[in-house]
Amino acid sequence: MSWVFVAALAMAALWLFTALRAARESHGRELTLLRGQQAVLQNRSLHAEHKLKALSESSGAGIVILNAKGLVVQINRAAEQLFGLEPESLIGHSFIQATLSNNLQEFALAAIGQQQPRSEDFKLPGASGRILRTTIFPFAQGLSDEPESMLVMVDITELKKLETMRRDFVANVSHELRTPLTSIRAMAETLQDGALHDEKVAMGFLATIVKEADRLARISEDLLILADAESKAPERVRFDLTDMVREVTARFRSESAESGVSLATELPGPTFISASRDQMEQVVINLVSNAIKYTSRGGNVSIEVANGGPMVSMAVSDTGIGIMQEDLPRIFERFYRVDKARSRQSGGTGLGLSIVKNIVEAHGGEVRVASEFNRGSCFTVSLPSGKE
Ligand code: ADP
Repeated sequence: MSWVFVAALAMAALWLFTALRAARESHGRELTLLRGQQAVLQNRSLHAEHKLKALSESSGAGIVILNAKGLVVQINRAAEQLFGLEPESLIGHSFIQATLSNNLQEFALAAIGQQQPRSEDFKLPGASGRILRTTIFPFAQGLSDEPESMLVMVDITELKKLETMRRDFVANVSHELRTPLTSIRAMAETLQDGALHDEKVAMGFLATIVKEADRLARISEDLLILADAESKAPERVRFDLTDMVREVTARFRSESAESGVSLATELPGPTFISASRDQMEQVVINLVSNAIKYTSRGGNVSIEVANGGPMVSMAVSDTGIGIMQEDLPRIFERFYRVDKARSRQSGGTGLGLSIVKNIVEAHGGEVRVASEFNRGSCFTVSLPSGKE
């Protein structure tokens, strides 16, 4: 071998070695860069997962992830509470075990593989009758690389109940207003058609018109009082309840005398409470006027105030017609009357007791009733005295 060949070989070897080292160094740098990027990505994904978990755990809505077979993959705390079940008894099991609702299960399964989220309300079977507003978000590929779907459920039972109450209330109000209006219109038309010329008949019709117009005024006044009691916190002042009861009772003396009903009071010394004086006056007026209204001639009504301790109580009792046990739970509802005709005849609006209940409860108090049919009733209002 000539020295030229040896030198060429050595140079080629050197070049190869340098090239290999450079390639290894560059590869190492790339690897470090990639590792760095991978760490950043891992960090980001962990962060996103934490955020998602925090979001799902803090959500008031129940969230459940289902796989394509309708088995539970994941569940948040709100959903556990919604169904009153531990996650262990749900994860890996069919979702229908929690809901017992075929319709909801079918809805969830039908969404798998779809593109768009869908929303529907479901009433769960069973005594609770809970209604869940359910929105389903299908994913083409979940964590397990298979299609999954996320169900978001909000318990709207109370909302639905309130909606029904509101609708019933509006229907009741329009019915209550329409009755006197129809009567006024009919009387006025009859007068127009000639009854005006018969003075005796005309005076009768006019008296009814005035009576019905007064009724409309009472309904609208009671509705305003009710709306006020419901929408605002009471404007409290400190005043003597005993003194106020004495004063209000005095206003009913002539009415009770006319009805032949005796009116007695049993009042302690000054009993200060912190409450809205106007609203408390309304409570006393409504209870005392009812007691007189529903007590026949010869009967008795008594108003008693008792103090001492953290509560002050006021009881209005009568020896009147009383209320049957089956009606007792309903008498505080708006427009509920046991005897519609009797209530109307005596100028009732059917709102008096619901006004009482609303006002007393807004003051942190309670109203109770004890009654025996044909023997009499006793309504007791308890209010915090503000004393410890
Ligand atoms: P109303 O304007 O009809 O009196 P309320 O809301 O004050 O309406 O009372 C609701 C119903 O409760 C009355 O229609 C009546 O049937 C019954 N009620 C209320 N107070 C008495 C009472 N002291 N004795 C007997 N029944 C009563």
